Order: sequence, then C-alpha cells, then structure tokens
Amino acid sequence: MSTDVEIAENGAAVHVQDPPDLVVAERAATAFLTALGVPLDSPHCRDTPRRMASAFAELLTPPRFVPTMFRSDSYEGLVVVRGIAFASLCAHHGLPFIGTVDVGYQPAGQIIGLSKLAWAVHLYARRLQVQEQLTGHVADWLVDTLQPRAAGVRVQAEHLCMSLRGARARGAVTVTSATRGALVDDPLLRQEWVMHLGAAVAGAHDCQGQETRDVSDQ
Ligand SMILES: [Zn+2]
Repeated sequence: MSTDVEIAENGAAVHVQDPPDLVVAERAATAFLTALGVPLDSPHCRDTPRRMASAFAELLTPPRFVPTMFRSDSYEGLVVVRGIAFASLCAHHGLPFIGTVDVGYQPAGQIIGLSKLAWAVHLYARRLQVQEQLTGHVADWLVDTLQPRAAGVRVQAEHLCMSLRGARARGAVTVTSATRGALVDDPLLRQEWVMHLGAAVAGAHDCQGQETRDVSDQ
C-alpha cells in the first residue's frame, strides 16, 4: 500500500491510500493461524481469516477527509480538544495500543472545524507505528495544515504488547507529548496548555484574562 497526497479545493492536503488487497491478506491470515496450530474448521473459525483481514485493513486504512478551515482574526486563545479516543497498531508487535489524544493550537488567522482534529488523529492512528511517531505526526499535521502560532499534542495509551504478554504490565499508561511554535518558547502559553491538560474535562475556563476554550466529546 502506498500513501499519496491530493490537494483539495480549499488548498488543504488530503491523504489518499491504495485500497488493501483483502484476498491476499485473507490467504496470509489462513497460513498464519494454521502455522500457529489454530484449527479453522469450527463454525466460529471457518470465516476468521476473512474477518481478520478486514479488521486489520480497517485498522490500517487512514480516513479520507478534507480539513475545513475558516478565517478568524478575533480569537487568540488556545483551542483545545481533549480525549479523542483512538486505536493504533504497535510497529514492533502488530498488537493494538489504545488511548486518547489531546490536541491544542493557537490560531494565527485561521481556525479549523473541530471534528477535523479527531479525523487528523485517526489519519495518523491507522497505521503500524510507535506512539512517539503518532504524537509527532499529529503535531506536524497541525503546523502544516493550519500554520498556527502554536500547536500541542499529548497521547496517553495502553500498549497491549506490554500489558497482555511479555512484562504483562496491565493498565500501564504511556504518555508522550509534542509541542510546536510558541508552545516551545512562550512560558505563559505553555503554562496555559499544561493547565488545560490537567483540568477537569467538562466546562470552559478563563486563564489570566486570556480567552481559552476547552472542547470535549466532539
Ligand atoms: Zn509492541
């Protein structure tokens, strides 16, 4: 599979990927399970290779969406969307890691439709990778797409390769974060971002007279 980028009417980059080959994937799933000694002749397992192929194809196929953006010169605070649920596959074991992403940015002349932040998380979640890559990719996407004054991303996830096997560290949560632009070198803005990450999820907040916005469950 290869990923391409098309340019939408509004000038935004749209990521496009070739469709998966489900026939070959199903054949490989049959061989994989058989080699591991899994009998496939029971009513429950007869169609399992096809379901496995389609489940992994879904987890590895990024959504196609156009980032909707609007000019906005009147809002200068941070826009923060917290708790975007995602599932991805770890690059080392192919097992899922599952968690949430918090995304924030400070506009510099344009804002983005809030649901597009969740779509951006899924765009980068649906691939084989390590959590550190997912974190950086979403932050870089914000910078490339919106050219904001600042961008921040925090990812919290449980890795099934660590909790179900090996160290069996059930419930351990891995936290990664990335900041770009003014969030790197503006201590006040950084403080505001950290406050948002630590604040209760519900409600809107004021911070030192600055306009701020928390949006959850979008
Ligand atoms: Zn792993």
